[in-house]
Amino acid sequence: MRNVVIIGSGCAGNTAAIYTARANLKPLVISGHEAGGQLSLTTLVENFPGFPEGINGPELVENMRKQAQNFGAEYLAGNVVDTDLSGRPFRINIEGEWIETRTLIVASGASARWLGLENEQKLIGHGVSSCATCDGFFYRGRKIMVIGGGDSAMEEANFLSRFGSEVTLVHCREEFRASKIMLDRARANPKIKFLTNTMVDDVYDVSKGVVTGVRLRNVKTNAAWDQEVDGFFLAIGHVPNTKVFKGQIETDADGYIISKGGARTNIQGVFHAGDVQDRVYRQAITASGAGCMAAIEVERFLEAEGH
Ligand code: NAP
Repeated sequence: MRNVVIIGSGCAGNTAAIYTARANLKPLVISGHEAGGQLSLTTLVENFPGFPEGINGPELVENMRKQAQNFGAEYLAGNVVDTDLSGRPFRINIEGEWIETRTLIVASGASARWLGLENEQKLIGHGVSSCATCDGFFYRGRKIMVIGGGDSAMEEANFLSRFGSEVTLVHCREEFRASKIMLDRARANPKIKFLTNTMVDDVYDVSKGVVTGVRLRNVKTNAAWDQEVDGFFLAIGHVPNTKVFKGQIETDADGYIISKGGARTNIQGVFHAGDVQDRVYRQAITASGAGCMAAIEVERFLEAEGH
């Protein structure tokens, strides 16, 4: 029987692990299918406090893991495939093996939605990004493309226009899902060019190990053409990783956990941390902060129960 199981090994999960391990609770962290979380997909992180020269995302998250392990946290590679949170202890199924725990921290994150093109996947971190805040800075004076028609796409295009020589916003339809104010702001930005009814068919150039351009297609005319691009940013939404808790942990219509204050969920003893609950900030530092909050709540919860 575990005191605490933490699902997810991004900033939220690792920080929760550091805190619960230091509190002698011997946490078990289930690494998940994207071990290291979103940071493992980025390169240089320049906005995590404490690193004046910046630090590579994978290194930052690996440091957090080591720090937690130094205090006794255990890590288990694997995916949670099922959960039973109907009674205590909670039961978690990791690829066929059930384990039991007194408390649970859900730090399973939200995965960026990708187009799913083979070359796009190969160039993640090498010109393909899902985070303008993280990577925009690297495209100073370069050609940037943003994909999407929602608020995130408008916000990212506006933000990226501070860096890029030009920003092309590519959207698959004529109408936009974005709110009027965000759309108007992007439209008023002279650096942003709109390409509607346009799909991305391919991303180049894997042989060079960096993004150099894309193959675009007009869905109405079927005309296809190539366009030079240096930074290729996806803003087509995120998918919170809450499938295995469906019908148990309360979520909103998009699957994000609904917070019941602090790090609490609707189930006593189950806490949330990071992007799995946060659709607004989505930063490494806010996820870490949320992991700390969840850990402190776990400590207090177990103490109140006399463990
Ligand atoms: P979103 O509203 O779901 O928009 C996603 C966009 O990506 C849509 O335009 C969608 O096209 C497009 N898309 C999805 N899959 C695609 C694919 N495979 N290929 C091409 N295009 C694809 O997501 P979001 O913009 O991340 O926003 C999420 C939530 O956060 C929203 O509620 C939004 O209002 C909120 N938000 C608010 C702010 C703000 O107020 N400052 C900023 C960011 C986000 P379709 O239009 O055809 O579906």
